[in-house]
Amino acid sequence: MKILHISAECYPIAKVGGLADVVGSLPKYQNKQGITSQVIMPFYDNKFTNTHKFITVFNSEFQLGEINYPFTIKKLKNNSLGFDLFLVDIPELLHKKYVYSNDDTERFLAFQIATLNWILTWKVKPTIIHCHDHHTGLIPFMMSQCFKYDRLKMIPTVLTIHNAQYQGWFSHNKLNLFPAFNFKNVGLLDWDGSINPLAAAIKCTWKVTTVSPSYMEELIHSANGLESLLKHEVSKCKGVLNGIDTEVWNAETDTYLIKNYKISATQSGKKRNKLYLCNQFKLNSSKPLFIFIGRLVGEKGAELLPEVFEKALTKNELSILVLGSGNVEIEKQLGDLKAKFKGKYNSYIGYNEKLAHIMYAGADFLLMPSRVEPCGLNQLYALRYGTIPVVRSIGGLKDTVIDISKKDGVGIVHKNVAVNEIIEAMDRAVELYNNPLGFKKIRKRGMQKNYSWEVSATSYINIYKSLKA
Ligand code: ADP
Repeated sequence: MKILHISAECYPIAKVGGLADVVGSLPKYQNKQGITSQVIMPFYDNKFTNTHKFITVFNSEFQLGEINYPFTIKKLKNNSLGFDLFLVDIPELLHKKYVYSNDDTERFLAFQIATLNWILTWKVKPTIIHCHDHHTGLIPFMMSQCFKYDRLKMIPTVLTIHNAQYQGWFSHNKLNLFPAFNFKNVGLLDWDGSINPLAAAIKCTWKVTTVSPSYMEELIHSANGLESLLKHEVSKCKGVLNGIDTEVWNAETDTYLIKNYKISATQSGKKRNKLYLCNQFKLNSSKPLFIFIGRLVGEKGAELLPEVFEKALTKNELSILVLGSGNVEIEKQLGDLKAKFKGKYNSYIGYNEKLAHIMYAGADFLLMPSRVEPCGLNQLYALRYGTIPVVRSIGGLKDTVIDISKKDGVGIVHKNVAVNEIIEAMDRAVELYNNPLGFKKIRKRGMQKNYSWEVSATSYINIYKSLKA
């Protein structure tokens, strides 16, 4: 069985969020389970592509509207990722420093057309084509409707929704960019008057998965306008919880950490990482250290953080460190707090993979007051590194973090995205921190949870098998 994953992001090549982590690890675990799983993504102009060697396996050209673009398919020369990696190189459109911007429609449509043109030339076609999010959502439509891809029609497609908030909308004026298709079925592309790649994918794909079971249930009621579509298609939808790459996320071997540690030496290992963070960011290391890592957007509840931090820091003895970027106003407010709470609060506005790893290792608590959380990987990394998650009960957070008041609890859970509830949850965390025996017990329990890909990789393989029959 040969699976081709098609994605805009893949760790460590290009990462904006959790999508990259999933596409960079699931195929590796699928290969370990005896199937052949490969990845294709755009060739961006970034550190990875500039420092690795590739071989060209195919070159041709394709048409986007009136324009012909040359393209090549490149393959990563060494096989260090645990799967074959192919990159679509369209210099004019994809050689960019960024992954996403305001020219996404043309860029990702071109990426998808070039990918399908290449697959047409494969002697033995993929068994399954697995698309991820709206950036690759036009693949199932084009495979089933464009005359040119008639020979790919019988290949089953799977769409995984990592985040339904973003749907890739564009105007009907751009229909001329598509290869010729049966115009009678143009409605498959439309949702509410726009071309909607995510909606088109849900309609045309053979199977839809979401990255957690609870997120699947939630999408039927709230999916940024697509709820009725998902309700209609519910029989082909399934939630499969994301796993984590336990080779990358391993406190014993993680090369980003200041000090590696085994579960039996968690206390001393975490202490060294905490001391480093507190020195770097001028925080008091004797207090419980709370962190937030992520996109500073409404989905993550980030606009409440300045008020929450102001109140929590005034009331409690604690330290807070933030790593993230996003909404400019939130970035500013989080920056402004630094002067007011010197020694207690600091923030790093930007993206920093190494710092994120040290923070998961050095912190005591991770805050995730998310409004929407399809799966959430941060809480899984935190648990594995012995940092207790303080989360809002939603989506994947609901599926992975049980409150400490319950049997097998590993974190602190609040129901709503509200300033007072987040502060109450932080109060409970400080209380737990001040009870060293209880704190260590919960931390150890969280570290023993197994959220690796083994189980979920099998669920995906079972889905593929059911489509192949
Ligand atoms: P998202 O909705 O952003 O995809 P996830 O929890 O699924 O959220 O995944 C977020 C991933 O991105 C995690 O690996 C997290 O550590 C990483 N991340 C988010 N923001 C930053 C940042 N500013 N610097 C470094 N890593 C980050």
